[in-house]
Amino acid sequence: MIYLDYQATTPVAPEVAEAMRPWAEEWFANPHSPSRWGREADAAIDHARREVEELIGLGGGSVAFTGSATEAINWALKGSVERAPPGRDRIITLATEHAAVLDSCEWLSERGIEVVALPVGGDGLLDLATLEDALDERVLLVAAMQVNNEIGVIQRVDEIAALAHAAGAIMLCDAVQGFGRIDLPEGPDMVAVSAHKIHGPKGIGALWMRDGAEPAPFVHGGGQERGMRSGTLSPALCVGFGAAASLARERMTRDFDHVQNLSHLARTALGRGWTINGSLQWRYPGNLNIRRGGLDGARMLADLRAIAFSLGSACASGSGRPSHVLRAIGLDYRAARSSLRLGFGRYTQSEDLVAACRLIDQAADAQENLPE
Ligand code: PLP
Repeated sequence: MIYLDYQATTPVAPEVAEAMRPWAEEWFANPHSPSRWGREADAAIDHARREVEELIGLGGGSVAFTGSATEAINWALKGSVERAPPGRDRIITLATEHAAVLDSCEWLSERGIEVVALPVGGDGLLDLATLEDALDERVLLVAAMQVNNEIGVIQRVDEIAALAHAAGAIMLCDAVQGFGRIDLPEGPDMVAVSAHKIHGPKGIGALWMRDGAEPAPFVHGGGQERGMRSGTLSPALCVGFGAAASLARERMTRDFDHVQNLSHLARTALGRGWTINGSLQWRYPGNLNIRRGGLDGARMLADLRAIAFSLGSACASGSGRPSHVLRAIGLDYRAARSSLRLGFGRYTQSEDLVAACRLIDQAADAQENLPE
């Protein structure tokens, strides 16, 4: 398999697996129990917490571990609404957010919160003037992602946060796709991240909260994570997340240069006829969301079984529904159906990527030559 689905998940780094092993195999004590072994596990978790905080890189706040970024986002949105000052009953978000944000907002809108999902331009970027117009004294929170998971475009998180703050609102940033890949600018009050996108294990995420901007607890129980998020933490998962964060911090420039080089190679190998969806300038280079007129993406996936990549429409579900992100940038059903997402990263070999792009190109040519 040639793995080109780095936005969906990333392979666990060998260093991460190594760091997790003793906590999975030997040191099984409950990190919240007072025994010597429990205290050691607790100390390992705190070390991991600092490693994640350092990679987030914002001052004046701290991290609570969660089961996923999806949980962190649900908590941030629903817990902030619970703590909202009177009269602040509106949330602004973007039409291109991940389902974790959009579906949580939908849930809140069924309970009396007004949700405004702002449109983006054909390049996938938010026009800041649109945000400025939508902000007023009723807005509690602005939720905007850093790097889009489908088309890779980078929003101006610092400027979005500054506008939100000027209107007395707070800002939640879904930083899942930018975390460990590019720096996160100052500004957000809450940041959601996930371990499995940075070569860490699945099943663990985190919410960074600025001091004083903590949402109300969402998961109730034993009072772990300073009473904010109950549930016994897994030392192995936390240590793995921390190790992945430290490794990403150490390698960020090297990984970025590698990915940028891969992006150039892929674009050359793909040849003519392909259009890149989303801004070319404001984009993370490890994401190439591409389309070619008339192509049937689902058939490409079926034909190219040795390559793992994603599609622009939810054909796997049988609905063939075009992605909400591609729709938001103005693509119609046919254009979304002919879109493919190639994602590459730290462990992608240039030769594999070039070979995969050539195969994709050939399969697209073959489709073009098929009788209607
Ligand atoms: N937000 C974005 C932008 C994502 O890409 C993802 C994962 O695909 C998530 C949130 C959810 O992350 P998790 O898998 O940790 O729930």
